[in-house]
Amino acid sequence: MAYIVAEPCVGCTFTDCVEVCPVDCFYVGPNFIAIHPDECIDCNACVPVCPVDAIYPDDELPAKWAHYAEWNAYLAPRWQALGHNLVEKRPESPPATDLSCADRPRSEADILTWEEDVSDETAP
Ligand code: SF4
Ligand code: SF4
Repeated sequence: MAYIVAEPCVGCTFTDCVEVCPVDCFYVGPNFIAIHPDECIDCNACVPVCPVDAIYPDDELPAKWAHYAEWNAYLAPRWQALGHNLVEKRPESPPATDLSCADRPRSEADILTWEEDVSDETAP
């Protein structure tokens, strides 16, 4: 099992989650963050600190976001290889009390990648 970051994170990236992860398994893109499924130890520490309820254990992932398991497994290793392991809240991230991003529409199509991270045909 692993924990999964789902759609509510797209464009929010408060990054409070990374500070509580005991194994530093979050990898950040320009507007989304992914959990490396081979590194997560299922401790649940990140779930209560995410202001937009974006993180779920894979067996509790809402069906509409089931494919985010693939997105996390796809993006985390790529952003890891590019050196984008995040272990502290980013200074430019909004405070967890700023939920202005929470109600706007978003989708996986909005997920951005780094310029070096060229998409390939294995994307979910
Ligand atoms: S705290 Fe939630 S919204 Fe912020 S980066 Fe982590 S998963 Fe995404
Ligand atoms: S469940 Fe624990 S190990 Fe997994 S990403 Fe969250 S804080 Fe890290």
